[in-house]
Amino acid sequence: MAETLPRGCGRPVFVSRDGGRVKVNCGSRVNALCPYCASIFRNDWKAIGRDGIINAPEGSVLYFVTLTAPAFGRVHKVPDKGAPPRRCPCGLTHTAIADVHLRGVALNPSRYDYTGQVAWNYHCGPLWSNTMRALRRGMPTAEYFGGWEFQERGARHLHVMLRVHHSDVIPDSDILDTARRVTTRDKHGNIYRWGHDLDIKRLTRRDGLPSGAFADNRRARILDYLLKAVGYTVKDSGHDPTWTSPANDVSIHFRLLDAAAEDFPCGACPPSKKCRNLIHSRWGARSRIVVTSRASAATSRPGWSPRGITRTSQTEHRRNYRRLQEMRNINLYKPHFTLESQRRHIRPLRS
Ligand SMILES: [Zn+2]
Ligand SMILES: [Zn+2]
Ligand SMILES: [Zn+2]
Repeated sequence: MAETLPRGCGRPVFVSRDGGRVKVNCGSRVNALCPYCASIFRNDWKAIGRDGIINAPEGSVLYFVTLTAPAFGRVHKVPDKGAPPRRCPCGLTHTAIADVHLRGVALNPSRYDYTGQVAWNYHCGPLWSNTMRALRRGMPTAEYFGGWEFQERGARHLHVMLRVHHSDVIPDSDILDTARRVTTRDKHGNIYRWGHDLDIKRLTRRDGLPSGAFADNRRARILDYLLKAVGYTVKDSGHDPTWTSPANDVSIHFRLLDAAAEDFPCGACPPSKKCRNLIHSRWGARSRIVVTSRASAATSRPGWSPRGITRTSQTEHRRNYRRLQEMRNINLYKPHFTLESQRRHIRPLRS
């Protein structure tokens, strides 16, 4: 369901255009900064994601795939909520609630590869592009929609929905094996690949979505998966208070990660000044958090959204709608009774 929008951008910016000054929305994705712009961002992506499922062609097979980073050192193993206590490599037995702050935190910060993790966070975007290219060799009709988020240890991982025509389907394990073989390299020749902890779930039958009401039910259930994934991805990256509490294992882990990101050479760092690229304050992550395949004339691919919804088309749509409303207010709809004119007919109450 669409969320209700707050009333307008809370911190608009003014830009010069056509000899005048024009008010422009701030465009923030962070709810705490601007609830209005952040909700537009979320709803636009949801509309795009939704279209790829609701209007998926008959015979589409859908998968939910999670791709994670490799290990950069040993971390505490804390069980999930509701799971039994778990023996950890640190020698203790952790429980879900009491030790939640230790989840994903380095066992031995002095031996953890923080720099490697930041570099991986920086290069995982191209790694995903290469993965998609490799997957399409076996499944030419594959389209995708997904989002990046941070795991507890501060490494990025990707939740992605894959949509493939059933005539293209290969075994689930082949999809993961293909992903495991893919690499990308930086200009120094360092190689980046996915970790071993990859996951795939097929959400439809192998012969794909049937037609009719039965399929609509199924589509609604699949939609839940997708919206959850997008929800995680575009949620606020608010800091957990435990991260900044005095020198515990958790704050050490994240401070070392912060430091590694600050020192990471992004390729555009000025020689003596502080680099303003935001990757240095995001543990190496670049700004793209939602990934989706677009229509391509060259390959005649329809893209994820069958109706061709993009953030640009959504903006255009909103602008047209606003114009229409304004026109209606000015020209077409002239109310006979304004509040002022009505007030004249109301007799004052006697005191
Ligand atoms: Zn705003
Ligand atoms: Zn432990
Ligand atoms: Zn830099």
